[in-house]
Formats: sequence, C-alpha cells, structure tokens
Amino acid sequence: MFEKHVAERMHLLNTESAFKILAKAKALEAQGRSVIHLEIGQPDFKTPRNIIEAAYKAMNDGHTGYTPSGGYPELRETIAQYAENHKGVTTNRDEVVVVLGGKPVMFYTMLILVNPGDEVIYPNPSFPIYESNIKFAGGVPVPIPLTADNDFRFDVELFKKSITPKTKLLILNNPSNPTGGVYTKEDILAIADALRERPDIFILSDEIYDRIVFDGSVTSIASLPGFKDRTIILDGFSKTYSMTGWRLGYAILHTELAKHMEMLMVNTNSCSAAFTQMAAIEALTGPQDSVEMMKAAFRERRDYLVAALNDIPGISCRMPKGAFYVFPDISSFGIPCEEFANRLLDEAGVAAAWGTAFGKYGEGYIRFSYANSLENLKIAVDRIAAFTKSL
Ligand code: PLP
Repeated sequence: MFEKHVAERMHLLNTESAFKILAKAKALEAQGRSVIHLEIGQPDFKTPRNIIEAAYKAMNDGHTGYTPSGGYPELRETIAQYAENHKGVTTNRDEVVVVLGGKPVMFYTMLILVNPGDEVIYPNPSFPIYESNIKFAGGVPVPIPLTADNDFRFDVELFKKSITPKTKLLILNNPSNPTGGVYTKEDILAIADALRERPDIFILSDEIYDRIVFDGSVTSIASLPGFKDRTIILDGFSKTYSMTGWRLGYAILHTELAKHMEMLMVNTNSCSAAFTQMAAIEALTGPQDSVEMMKAAFRERRDYLVAALNDIPGISCRMPKGAFYVFPDISSFGIPCEEFANRLLDEAGVAAAWGTAFGKYGEGYIRFSYANSLENLKIAVDRIAAFTKSL
C-alpha cells in the first residue's frame, strides 16, 4: 500500500541472495529439517579471545561514547601501519576512514565518485552489492566476465576494450568472491598499464580476503608507483579475524576523498562503535596465530571439497587459490543454477548460493562456502552426490 510513495531510487537497489537463502534454510530447520549451511560467507570460527578481551576492557575503560567520525586516531594510525606491512602501501592516518564493515566502503565510494551516466567496470560474477550500488548512484555497470577457462582471473584484453571516455571507476576484488580466484601480480601490472593513460579512472580495490590466500600473497594495485592516490582500498575485520557481526571495516583513500567519506559517516552513522575500534587495534597488533589457524583449516577443507566434488559425475570444480569459496560448474545437469540451488536445499538439505546471484555470467555455477566443519562438508558431499544422481 505504501509502495507508490517509495522514492524511485529504492528500486535501483538489489539484494544479496545469500541472506535470502539463509532465511529459507533457517525456515526449513525450524520445521525440523536438517540443513548443511554452505551459503553464507562468514568464517565459522569464534572471534579470537584476545580481541574479545580487548573489547571488554575497552568498555570497562569507558570507550562507550562517540568517537571521531572517521575513527580513533590510534586505530587509523594502526591501520596505516598495517597497510604498509601487509599490503606494501605507504599511507598515513589521514588517509584511513573507519566504517561499519567493508560494505559501506562500496556504497560510499559510489556516492562520492559516480555521477549519473558514469561507467563502472567490474568483474562478473562478483559480490552482488557492487552492481546494486553502481546502479543506485546512477552509474552504468560494465561487466567483465570471469571464466573458468581463465581460472576466473581478470581478462585484461577485454578490460582494455571496455574502457570508454565515460569510464570512471574500476572495481577489483582479489581474492574474489564467489570464485575464490586470484589475480596474479602480472594481471595487476597489466591492469595498471592499461590505466596509465587514463589518470581520471579510479580503482576500488576490495581486499577483504587478502589474508586468505593459499599460495604466496596478492598484490594491491595501490602498492604500484603512482596508483595509491587513485585507489580506494576496501578492507576490514570481518573475514580475517572472524568478526562479521562486529561491523568494522575501513577505506584507505586520498585525503581529499577521505573528507567526503567522513562526511558520509557524519550523515549516516556518526562513527563506528568505540569499543570495537579498540578491539580492532588488538586484532591488528596482537598475535596473528588465529589467522594462520583459520587459513590452515580453510586449506584442508578446500582440498577435501574440491577433490570430493570432482569425484561426483557431472560436477567440475577448479582449485580456488583464495577466500573460502568453491565455484563448481554444474551446467552438465541442464537446469538453471537457481533451480539447482533451490532443489538442492529443498530435496537434499544443502544450502548454497546459485551462480547468477553474483551476476549473469555466473549461470551454470554454484557457490559453496566451505566455512563449515570438515565433518559437515562430508555430509554435504554425500547429499550433493545423491541429489545429482537423482537428476
Ligand atoms: N567484499 C566482498 C568481496 C565480500 O564478499 C564481502 C562480504 O561477504 C564484503 C566485501 C563485505 O564485508 P563486510 O561484512 O565487512 O561488510
């Protein structure tokens, strides 16, 4: 009844289907059904104890009020130092803005940079909120298909052809959701080369999974000479430190853009929670063994899951090099991936996200998050095998 009163811009926003699938899976569980959750992108580990203790302490010490809108200077300083150590990006605290998770960095970046009609080049399939936010800002999404033949890397030749006078922003996500693909250093260098003639194109570099890489490390485009000032780095605490519900992330961007991001914070959230910021300092400066422990567990699960899925007739799965997702090809079953995922949940009790939830080039694929125990993954594989046999 109120729909006609809702502002037109609201129809430009789209959702993240993983949350819809989660709700459906929970509803089935409430009816007594057993469901293995492979749909949602959050580590299944508890937040490390030292971070939780730091939050308690911060609350007891009185960190319960507003903070500066871009975050406590100590945290911004710590993040700047972390970026130098882990990303090879030399920066300072005036270029860091602390926000409520990685997602707001996308939203704010679009609002700050994208005018109606501006083109934004982004990988597809990818995190669905990119496309949604581009459209919300009035931008034109220009997808670069990621394909299995290319190991879900960024096709630089196609990228070059997609650049037009209207291109304003390029989005990179390394390692990638939903494919687990990693762009090599050579890919990043080639992308940078293609952009050298166009200093007016900015880059949103989503590095939220950059600590979950199984061989070596990833290169931030911001670490290349001349690229820091035109790059907005998106990172946060959700994945690396298993802190999805804490809602804490940050942007690293030129001070002139940082001012605008702080202005958006003033106009929306005022600031992120004070004690979470204090705990974030502990996350970045305290022991990192839990990060390594989680990565080792993810590697073991990935190795198991990829081998087990490839043993199922009709499924073909590449070995992802990062994040905690596999993106197997299920096209041989001849049914649309959304139907496949819905039936897999309804008939076999395995919740997964369908490929097109991440963009049209995801057709034929399904995303399993292996942020679940090895024991549950084994049950899921048995169920997937029985389900596919029944098709
Ligand atoms: N970027 C990517 C690629 C993601 O997959 C996610 C979450 O799934 C985010 C950003 C958002 O992270 P946060 O929960 O910190 O907002």
